[in-house]
Amino acid sequence: MLNELELTGRARSHVVQRDDLRAALQSDTLESFLAMKEAAAREGLVIEIVSAFRDFAAQQNIWDRKFRGERPLYDAHGNVREHAKLNEAELIDAIVCWSAVPGGSRHHWGTEIDVIDRAALPENYRVRLLPEEAAPGGVFHRLHQWLDENMARFGFYRPYRAWRGGFFPEPWHLSYAPVSSAALEALLPEVLEAAVRESSMLGRELVLARITEIYRQYVANVDAPEFPGRQASA
Ligand SMILES: [Zn+2]
Repeated sequence: MLNELELTGRARSHVVQRDDLRAALQSDTLESFLAMKEAAAREGLVIEIVSAFRDFAAQQNIWDRKFRGERPLYDAHGNVREHAKLNEAELIDAIVCWSAVPGGSRHHWGTEIDVIDRAALPENYRVRLLPEEAAPGGVFHRLHQWLDENMARFGFYRPYRAWRGGFFPEPWHLSYAPVSSAALEALLPEVLEAAVRESSMLGRELVLARITEIYRQYVANVDAPEFPGRQASA
């Protein structure tokens, strides 16, 4: 079971750094990912991790840069929203649909991976992690068809499969259910609130004023695995 510092990305005692994967992962998640990667490789797919464990500081950096307008903000269709036209409350609305509040990211747990198929990448292609890449005709469609059929065997599922009024769909974001289900239960609203309160993130007071709503809409409001607690098997 992850402790409160691990749950909010303020410790990395629960993850293993793997330089060959350019990622850090919780150990059971790592083991199952490697088994899944090997199975996919037999089908000509090269599953590569774009993002795995991310600590609080890294999440805050993403958040703060979006808050300052140094990184683009998108609507549900992937269209850019103009930073200058948004007030602070609207900024938070635009950010939380795509990027978790620091302390509230599932990537803190080491159980989450954003994946692509390296073998499908055209030369000079810049990965954007948008839903169209996973859809029919998209560059990673074959990977996602394979994941649909196979990832449950390895304990993985998509927590952001459908839009539920919180995060927009992220088909590339996979979660290792045997560990992440318990992590979600352990990340109580007050645990998230304490992490935000003790931070220097931009917009902190506005976020704290809305923390219950943000927790409900963006942390608790995810698709559940269809195989709760199931052990992964290669
Ligand atoms: Zn992700």
